[in-house]
Amino acid sequence: MNSPATTKPRLDVIIVGAGFGGMYAVYKFREMGLSIQAFEAGGNVGGVWYWNRYPGARVDLPSIDYSFSFSKEVEQEWTWSEQFAAQPELLRYINFVADRLDLRKHFQFNTRVTRAEWDEKQAIWRVTTDKGEVYEATYCIMATGPLSIPKDPEIPGLERYKGELYRAAKWPEKEVTYAGKRVGIIGTGSTGIQIVQEIGPKCGELFVFQRTPSFTMPMRNQTLEPEYVAEVKRNYPGLREAARNSAVGGLRPQSTRAFFSVTPKQRIALLEDAWKQGGLAMLGTFSDLLVNAEANEHVAEFVRGKITDVVRNPVTAEKLKPKGYPIFARRPCLDNTYYDTFNLPSVHLVDCLEDPIIEITQKGVRTESGEIELDMLILATGYDGLTGALLAFDVVGRDGLTVNKKWAEGARSYLGLMIAGFPNLFMTTGPNGPAALANIIAISEHDVNWIAALMEHMDRQKKATVEPSVEAEDAWMNLVYQLAGRTLVSKAKTWYVGANVKDKPQGLTLFTGGFHKYREHCAAVVQDNYRALTFGAFE
Ligand code: NAP
Repeated sequence: MNSPATTKPRLDVIIVGAGFGGMYAVYKFREMGLSIQAFEAGGNVGGVWYWNRYPGARVDLPSIDYSFSFSKEVEQEWTWSEQFAAQPELLRYINFVADRLDLRKHFQFNTRVTRAEWDEKQAIWRVTTDKGEVYEATYCIMATGPLSIPKDPEIPGLERYKGELYRAAKWPEKEVTYAGKRVGIIGTGSTGIQIVQEIGPKCGELFVFQRTPSFTMPMRNQTLEPEYVAEVKRNYPGLREAARNSAVGGLRPQSTRAFFSVTPKQRIALLEDAWKQGGLAMLGTFSDLLVNAEANEHVAEFVRGKITDVVRNPVTAEKLKPKGYPIFARRPCLDNTYYDTFNLPSVHLVDCLEDPIIEITQKGVRTESGEIELDMLILATGYDGLTGALLAFDVVGRDGLTVNKKWAEGARSYLGLMIAGFPNLFMTTGPNGPAALANIIAISEHDVNWIAALMEHMDRQKKATVEPSVEAEDAWMNLVYQLAGRTLVSKAKTWYVGANVKDKPQGLTLFTGGFHKYREHCAAVVQDNYRALTFGAFE
């Protein structure tokens, strides 16, 4: 029998998650003088970068941009070494922030929240952990992240497999060796691509099980010169302001030029130039690639041509070419040597569209054409994105309504920040906000600041509870759906639309209007004196 739960003294704020959102929430609410307690299932800070230690893990946004902007000390004292930092450096940065700002002491690590329930009478959130403790707080912040619940493939037999089995999103801390081994990897999204190019040359043989090919472009990563870093540090305020006012919340090339506004010769020259530059340059070539299907197809064909240029075996090259969905509708990947890896005689592409996986056996993977024996199997099969974390435990709002029930037909929220029926509960980078389409750190900082301002408003107005009205939530969802209907992002089967999880309601639960517009919507709510929200007084 479990020992009875112990209840701790009432707090102002409970925060769930020690990724970027949770860390900034801890900092911000502590600076406001609030009493806080934060929980994290992992053993330390870092969120996705704590868990994702897989070989080759690397950020696909510029490091200087993929960093906190709220602390001038952190900005000036931390120095990035590469344009696109690898996971160990990212984790060092995150730990540096936690130490420098003394955040760690507010977290209880290795602790999973198992239930969060609203107590209407006392107007508090009651949060239970897997340690059997119960905490109570006025506010509950779910900084649980859009990519924190890894997903195994729906293939029978996984439990039978007797070889080494690794999940990209739960990579072990011990050293993994590949020499002389027959290794299989399932999944060719951002994660799979990074792993393949890293371990391909190290394995005895590598079998890449590819169902949907991804578009990937050259990263052309660079070491950052000290003079450049010094320039960046001098100019951080301006850089951050530019990032906040951009559609992606970050420093990315953008264009105002529509594809068909320039001649075919000029288009190719621009694309070639972007390809040579690498990084995010391809995203900034034309303004209409996510709304004009014909323009999109021209760019997709340009990238397919590059695969032919690199991959020597024409059959393999053809199979690696993504077809049937718009480029950039799935998250575009950045690679260094992904396509070259397939020129190694020891690397084999298994096309699961032509030769589907039937089952995992004790010894390996059986496709329709036969069994492939493996010493090691790696799963890079993605996440239950956007909603998975909040559906993984009971979050119970007013009148016993659970988030699970509320989202049975798709995630509904107000600004991606609040949910009608769940007073004093907030999400950072929640569904129906711009998460996944913009810089996650910029969104996290914005969200925490918006929540903090609302808490201060409630304090001034002596209000006990706040939640969005159903009308406000409906209006926000209508806008989200309306904008989603205009973009090609909804036209691919991805985790963005829930297509990768069996029986998950389908639909793009992301605000596609751009981060700058999202900020405007959130600011307008404040300017309107929070009229879209319903406040409750103290008893
Ligand atoms: P993902 O993009 O969802 O890719 C999962 C892969 O697994 C897909 O290729 C999928 O094929 C395949 N798969 C799933 N079930 C399968 C099955 N039964 N049989 C064969 N293949 C199967 O997941 P991810 O690569 O982990 O990336 C998720 C997101 O994380 C990215 O979009 C990105 O936002 C983020 N990320 C970023 C970075 C970075 O910053 N560099 C790195 C890694 C991840 P189908 O497509 O056919 O389902």
